[in-house]
Parts: sequence; C-alpha cells; structure tokens
Amino acid sequence: MNNILKDPVCGMTIQPGRELIALYQEQKIHFCSEFCRNKFFEHPEQYIAATIAASYDEAKENRRIAYFSMEVGIGSTMPTYSGGLGILAGDTLKSCADLRVPIIGVSLLYRKGYFDQKLNEWGGQQESPVQWTPDRFLRLLPETVQVKIEQRVVRVQAWQYDIVGLSGYVVPLILLDADVDENTDYDRTLTDFLYGEDERYRLAQEILLGIGGVRIIDALGYSGIERFHMNEGHASLLVLELLERRNSTQQAEWDFNSIRNQCVFTTHTPVPAGHDRFDYGLVQHSLSQIVPNDVLQMLAGRESLNMTVLGLNLSRYVNGVAKRHEEVSQEMFPGYPIHHITNGVHSWTWTCDSFRALYDRYIPGWSNDPTMLRHGIGIPKKEIWEAHLMAKASLFAHIKEQTHLSLSTDILTVGFARRATAYKRADLIFSDINWLLEIAKQVGSLQFVFAGKAHPKDYPGKELIRHIFEISRQLREQIPVIFLENYDMEQAKAIVSGVDLWLNTPQRPLEASGTSGMKAAHNGVPSLSILDGWWIEGHIEGVTGWSIGSQKPEISASDALNRQDTEDLYRKLQNVIVPMFYRERDRWLDVMRQSIALNASFFNTHRMVQQYVTNAYLP
Ligand SMILES: *Cc1c(COP(=O)(O)O)cnc(C)c1O
Repeated sequence: MNNILKDPVCGMTIQPGRELIALYQEQKIHFCSEFCRNKFFEHPEQYIAATIAASYDEAKENRRIAYFSMEVGIGSTMPTYSGGLGILAGDTLKSCADLRVPIIGVSLLYRKGYFDQKLNEWGGQQESPVQWTPDRFLRLLPETVQVKIEQRVVRVQAWQYDIVGLSGYVVPLILLDADVDENTDYDRTLTDFLYGEDERYRLAQEILLGIGGVRIIDALGYSGIERFHMNEGHASLLVLELLERRNSTQQAEWDFNSIRNQCVFTTHTPVPAGHDRFDYGLVQHSLSQIVPNDVLQMLAGRESLNMTVLGLNLSRYVNGVAKRHEEVSQEMFPGYPIHHITNGVHSWTWTCDSFRALYDRYIPGWSNDPTMLRHGIGIPKKEIWEAHLMAKASLFAHIKEQTHLSLSTDILTVGFARRATAYKRADLIFSDINWLLEIAKQVGSLQFVFAGKAHPKDYPGKELIRHIFEISRQLREQIPVIFLENYDMEQAKAIVSGVDLWLNTPQRPLEASGTSGMKAAHNGVPSLSILDGWWIEGHIEGVTGWSIGSQKPEISASDALNRQDTEDLYRKLQNVIVPMFYRERDRWLDVMRQSIALNASFFNTHRMVQQYVTNAYLP
C-alpha cells in the first residue's frame, strides 16, 4: 500500500509538502490547489462520495478484522459514545484508517444518544435525549437482517459511516438500527439510548450487537473476516453466532477451537462488579436457543451469564489496557493468559489547532507517524508557550460564552474532566479547603475547570457534581472553580489543551488506563496523577509530570490511604508545582516539551493499533 495523496476534485497526485488541507465533517481532506479546494466546497457530498467509491476498488472480501464495540466516539456531532471506552474505539478505527488496516467497525446507532446534560444553579443534573439527524453523516444500507429477541423476530437495518484515513483509505463503521416499520413499538426503541433503561433492554441491545452484528457483516458481503475483536464484554454474544454458524455448516459439533482461533478480547474493567452479567432466567427469556443451556453455562459461568467469561473462554488473545491492568485482570481471572496493550489516543484528533500548526512546522509528517513527536524536545520553548497561550485563550473564550465568567490567562489553571462517577474522586482536591487556600495565597493563585456527565442512575456521581458546585460557591471570592455543562469530545479537547495542569485522582486500581492525560500530553500539558492505569507507564517524576500518593500499587479504599493521597497532592502543589509554574517558567516549559516528546510519541493509537496487529491479529 502506498501513501500517495490524490486530490478529490481533479484526481491529481498531490506533491508532498505542497498540499492544502481543509476539514470536512471532522475529516482532513487534501487538495492540490486553492481552485480545487473551492470547487470541493461547492458540492462536498458529491466529491466525498466519489472519493469513497474510488477507495472501494479494494474488494469487500479483503477486509480481515471486525471490531465490535457497544459505543464508538467519532466526534461530538455523533452522540454514539458515553466516555473513554467509546472514544478509544473511535480513535482505534481512525488509526486503522490512517494505517490502512483492513478492519470494519460494528456498533449500534443510538437515535437519542447518551444524553444532553443541563445543570441547575445547585449542580443538579437534568438529562434529555440528544437531537441529531443520522442521515447527515451516515448512509442507510439496503441490506437488513433478522434477529430473534424474546421470541419475536426483530428486523435490523444498518447505517454506514466512512472513516477516511489520512491517505484516503476508508474504514467503514456499521451502526445497527432497530427503528424499522415492521418491528413492534418496543423493539423500535432498542437502539435509542446508550446504556439506558433496564437489564432486559441492555441484554436485547447486546443480542443486537453480537448476533445482529455478525449477521450484518455476512449480509454486506464481508466474507473474508478472520478476526472478531470484542472491545469489552458487551459484544461477547457474537461467539454464540459464530458457534451456531460453524455447527450448521460443518456437521461436526462444537468446534470451540476454530471459534477461539478467530476471536480477540479486550477487557477494560478492573473490578468484578463492573463486568456485565445476566441472570439465566432473563437469558432464557430473551435469547432464542442458540446453544443448549449446559453448553452456555460451561462457556459463560454457572450462576449467571458473565459476558467477560464468555469472551475469555473463546478468545485466542486477551488483553488489558495497561500494564498494571493486565496484573489486576490476571488476579481476577486466574488461569486465563492475559496480556496488555496500553491504550493510546488518535494524535491528530486530540491535538489542538495551535499545536497542530506547530508540529506541522517542526515535525512534518507527525500526524501519520506520531512516534516522530519525540522531536518535540527540539521545538523552541517560546513557541510552545505561544501555542499553549492560544489554546488557553480559546478555552477561556468557550468558558465565557457558556458561563459568562472571565478567567485570567496568567493564573495556573488546573483541569479535571471525565465521567462523574465516585471512583474518579473529582472532589479529592477539595478535601482540605484551608490548605488549598493557603497554597493559593502564599505561592500563586489557582483556578479550576471541571466537566463531566454522571450516568442518569449514578446517584453518587450526581452528588459529586453538586458537591463541586457547592465548593465553587464557597470559594467564589478566592479560587474560581468552573463546572462546564454537557461534556463531550469537542469540549474535552478544549479543556485538555487549554489548562496548564491535568489532574487525575482515581481510587486505585480502578482506572484501567485513562486516556485524557494522553490527550493533554499531545498539547504539552503535564499530568498530576495518582499512579494508576497508564500513568504508571507514562510518569517520570518532574520530567513528564508528577505523581500523587504511594509509589506502590496499593489498593486504595481506606481512609488512611485517602488521607495520604490528599496530603501528597497538597504538598506537591505547594512545594513543587505552583512555585515552578510562577517562578521557573523555563523549567515548566521543559516539562511541557518532555510530555510531548516522551508521552505523546508513545501513548497514541497508531502505536497501539500496530501492537494489536502484531500481537493479536496476525499471529
Ligand atoms: C477522553 C474522554 C473520556 C475519557 O477520559 P478518562 O480520563 O480516560 O476517563 C471521557 N469522555 C470524553 C468526552 C473524552 O473525550
């Protein structure tokens, strides 16, 4: 495969280094000239369709890998994700498109998305369905399939989103949709909400994803798939469809090895309670008899159907998403060989405009070879600081627009944005307000930017948001604390690039990997984080950022460890971080540059996908 770029309008090869780039629906398009770029924007759909048609000169049967995920985050305009898991899936498929990995993505459509978040003046969260129009981004495909759920036949249609890689290679993302006229009213709602409703609804969705997904791939003509990758247990029912298919064509009964040889499983959950389980009573009600109960119990557990166990039993390669997560998973599932492939982020997606321009100037070619970001170490510090101030100003403009509050770009700004859920301990930084006030008074001022949605049924998560609002009110005169509404990918990018320091305080070992700190590193923003997940690998004290709490991989649930984390956090802010930011800007800039050179160059999905190809897909 080559990396020759062609202009979508005139079809001519673009001379390297002479191209013009424009963005269309979150994708990067290359042009040979101003003329073609202008022409393109007169009829963009038409040119995109032609480009995509041309890229399909490769036959469908050459696709080798199918990647299944309950959520996929491509951009903030398509609300088909809730958090890290979905964004990882989207970033993975984008890197596959850039690297020309012959993969196809499978997920559900979610006509009403996850939810839109409104916060009242006390931080009370109200949820409402997301309004969006799938046909603006997706093509409805003519093929449909049927899946049996609760003894009813459910007709499923499919939409395609084309992920266009940096050299024009297309990875199709197929989103299943049960909103079809002939289905019952209930069945038509099955692909409305991500992580919505009850167990019955959730199991029906997982039947659609796993079983419907395998059937649609067949119906669409992708006959050469050799690997089925389950991104977390939600997709594990696909193994039952593979077993069924094998049994009906081969006569020979239960050829588990041949299924195992096709499947790859990635776990993302470091606690037993986090793994999807279904009561066998419900399973019998919802899932039509694909394999007999005794076989199902052998594969998925005696007491209840454990989706992770099902995936583990029928996969050739199983991995956690960071080195530490491999160890934790191995303890949880002894007897299964578990590996690790540490997560990454899609470099081009998560680098803000000012840093993209800087890297384009100093490290041309970085976006399709982010290892090159190691040369970030040579970018003049003055230019790093200028690019950072642009990102900071742009975040503060967004804050002003949403909250009517003005922040000063001179002040050390700490960011914390992620799903609002108890283990992430968003309010740990406010454990000792007096100490925090002392730091802000003695050494230099501080301000905070928060964002995050709590799952509609996560009451402790919602309480966290209210608590931060309360603190914000209390500190109003001394330390500005902003909480932005409706966290999504676009806002995430503005925050990770626009703050000075990225704070992460999860309870160990619950952060399987975490990816927002990797996004921050791509924008030269260092992390201050508990040593859990990816940070154990990415942290070099005082070089790429700073750690909080014990250096040992302890399980923190005790009050004593909480206190230790808090004290360490304050001490480091007081004695090291705040003084360095205000008094030793040059050293601070060293840390910014080292975050890029040591961490962005490695914690990206290009490196990660290459490891999946060599360790999990190819052997
Ligand atoms: C990156 C991202 C996440 C994941 O952040 P973590 O720190 O890994 O929890 C969640 N939500 C959005 C919108 C993101 O962009």
